[in-house]
Amino acid sequence: MDLLAVPAFTDNYIWMLHDGVSAIVVDPGDAAPVVRALDERSLKLSAIVVTHHHGDHVGGVDALRDRLQGPVWAPATESIPEPNVPLRGGDAVDLFGTRFEVIDVPGHTAGHIAYFGRPAGQAPILFCGDTLFSGGCGRLFEGTPAQMHASLSRLAALPGDTRVCCAHEYTLSNLKFARAVEPGNAELVDYSARCESLRRRDLPTLPSSVSTERQVNPFLRVAEPEVRAAARAHGATGDDAVSVLAALRQWKNEFR
Ligand code: ZN
Ligand code: FE
Repeated sequence: MDLLAVPAFTDNYIWMLHDGVSAIVVDPGDAAPVVRALDERSLKLSAIVVTHHHGDHVGGVDALRDRLQGPVWAPATESIPEPNVPLRGGDAVDLFGTRFEVIDVPGHTAGHIAYFGRPAGQAPILFCGDTLFSGGCGRLFEGTPAQMHASLSRLAALPGDTRVCCAHEYTLSNLKFARAVEPGNAELVDYSARCESLRRRDLPTLPSSVSTERQVNPFLRVAEPEVRAAARAHGATGDDAVSVLAALRQWKNEFR
């Protein structure tokens, strides 16, 4: 099973999983790059997987229907182009013989879901949409800091070697913010240098891994003393995880 990041718009990735014959795509905000990626490899489209309702994730779904030979899997509580097969946390979908578990991850949107699978003989895969980014997390458009904290905690608890397939190439700007939060984090400095080198060559910084995110992502590190202190200096009302995350998210919204 091959995993690839199909670039779309200015900074989206449409993740594609294929077995050389058939492919599934995750969050096709645009149909054209998907059609090109399918045709270049002579692949059929066997399913579409959706994490949440935003246009840059579902805008290409209807245009792909004439190529599609299977279901559109989608979060049950969000408005996704019909027809689709609604999914909730605890459900599972079969993709190329691998069971992908559906995880509820509200925060960016109210009904956002993620998909986690363990392909035989490969590192696990997480499709997390706009919930977890490398070095950051999604904006809280429809959810609370408490919800986002709970969602990120579930993802951070997945196996360390899990390949984290985020829907946007936001890594460098996230890491710039992360270094402002935790200037003393040596792993973060090393990781930033590696990502900058990838971007200079126009390569994706993704997938990341759960273990990397635990080491560099301030939104997963709200219990670290240096992160707490920085959050305190930026308006956190307490040292608890939710107050720290709320302050970090607000600070990031204004950070340049
Ligand atoms: Zn979104
Ligand atoms: Fe998005």
